Amino acid sequence: MSTTVVEPATGRAMAEVPDAGPEDVDRAVARARAAFPAWRDVAPADRARLLLRLADAVEAELEPLAVLEARNAGHAIASARGEIGMVAATFRYFAGGVERHLGDTIPVAGGVAMTFREPLGVVGLITPWNFPLPIASWKLAPALAAGNCAILKPAELTPLTAIELERIALEAGIPEGVFQVVAGPGPTVGARLVEHPGVAKIAFTGSTRVGAGIQRDTAATTKRVTLELGGKSANVVFADADLEAAAAAAPGAVFDNAGQDCCARSRILVERSAIDRFLDLLEPAVAAFTVGDPLDGDAHMGPLISAAHREKVASFVPDDAAVAFRGAAPEGDGFWFPPTVLCPVDPSSPAAREEIFGPVVAVLPFDDEADAVRLANDSIYGLSGSIWTRDGGRALRVARGIESGVLSINSNSSVRVSTPFGGFKRSGVGRELGPHAMEAYSELKTVYWATGA
Ligand code: NDP
Repeated sequence: MSTTVVEPATGRAMAEVPDAGPEDVDRAVARARAAFPAWRDVAPADRARLLLRLADAVEAELEPLAVLEARNAGHAIASARGEIGMVAATFRYFAGGVERHLGDTIPVAGGVAMTFREPLGVVGLITPWNFPLPIASWKLAPALAAGNCAILKPAELTPLTAIELERIALEAGIPEGVFQVVAGPGPTVGARLVEHPGVAKIAFTGSTRVGAGIQRDTAATTKRVTLELGGKSANVVFADADLEAAAAAAPGAVFDNAGQDCCARSRILVERSAIDRFLDLLEPAVAAFTVGDPLDGDAHMGPLISAAHREKVASFVPDDAAVAFRGAAPEGDGFWFPPTVLCPVDPSSPAAREEIFGPVVAVLPFDDEADAVRLANDSIYGLSGSIWTRDGGRALRVARGIESGVLSINSNSSVRVSTPFGGFKRSGVGRELGPHAMEAYSELKTVYWATGA
């Protein structure tokens, strides 16, 4: 059995990838377990050096990797270059963490207690199709830095750059068995990783539905689990904000990667007194957000990932009556969808409540600061968001009030290698990236040493 990998801009096949099965997962786990003791015992400075070599090797292949990701995931090439650059930066950041993965010494009666951060063993990484290689690196880099072996199951729709990364890692000197890719369907290959007694942890990014099932199924073997799930983030615009800047940034905040981004600000909440002015400013900004061939350097966004996904996105826009305005998209064989702005929107409608994962944004009014926080929090999700205001005190009050893992004030920023990333509520469990990420790939061990009287 094999999977035909499709290029979403053309709808045509671009590769055929053999499907692994559960028995391949079993073999990969056995190889990883065999490789683990030696990898755990590599001197920290040498492990850091290997991760730095991996970062350099990714950077050396940045352009072919970016083109492959752009073609397979439909990302605008400029974005894809940035993403592959981030992959290299992630390996570099966690290379720096290897020798700073510290324990404590704790004064206790009759001796001293020490803590060590021990690797977990073999970890399973399950990743989605929306940012294939960056999301893999956010898990793989801290896992390897902490001394674990890792098995990566990429999404069937976008396995190509993960397969390349396995080759690059081997060429960079990462020992055999330390990092393996097993490409195949989630319900068989992913599920086998989740249930396998030889896997100590699952790190997952994807839908809240599948993530909840993984949380349930890892309980049987008491696995560690981190989940990075869906979002319905709010872009909160107060009347006192720099409305020009807020409107200019709003399309990128939701339409980048065609809205297939767990951090997409797919709700724009605007103070009622400013909503007409804001919409007047937003319309030309949306018109200027170009949709086109991912390899055309001028395109801001490409197609959706698949025909089935386009159908799902379209179901959130049942008729034109709800559409305030929309941008242009190419005609033809690719899975194109225009940037679409809905206003007015019923706050209880699916478009205002569910993760659309496409270039569709709902604009909703609010009355005052308390109403803005209430509306932003009126969601099962809590991943990201933005606050636009010139009032510094209000910016911080609202940032503290919104139940969300990441917020940015007067900007669209969500993910940085050096800061924690993850969600409140049903957006996930645990944090990736930042100074504490390696803790989620290690066990804390306490050793008591009696020193005598
Ligand atoms: P899924 O959650 O289905 O897929 C994510 C990963 O999990 C894929 O590698 C998938 O494999 C795997 N998987 C699926 N089922 C299982 C299982 N039973 N056990 C173990 N692994 C499994 O996301 P989709 O790709 O179907 O996307 C659906 C929706 O999820 C999107 O429309 C969006 O709303 C949301 N989503 C959110 C993301 C985020 O970043 N928060 C990322 C992606 C999606 P495979 O696909 O190869 O079968």
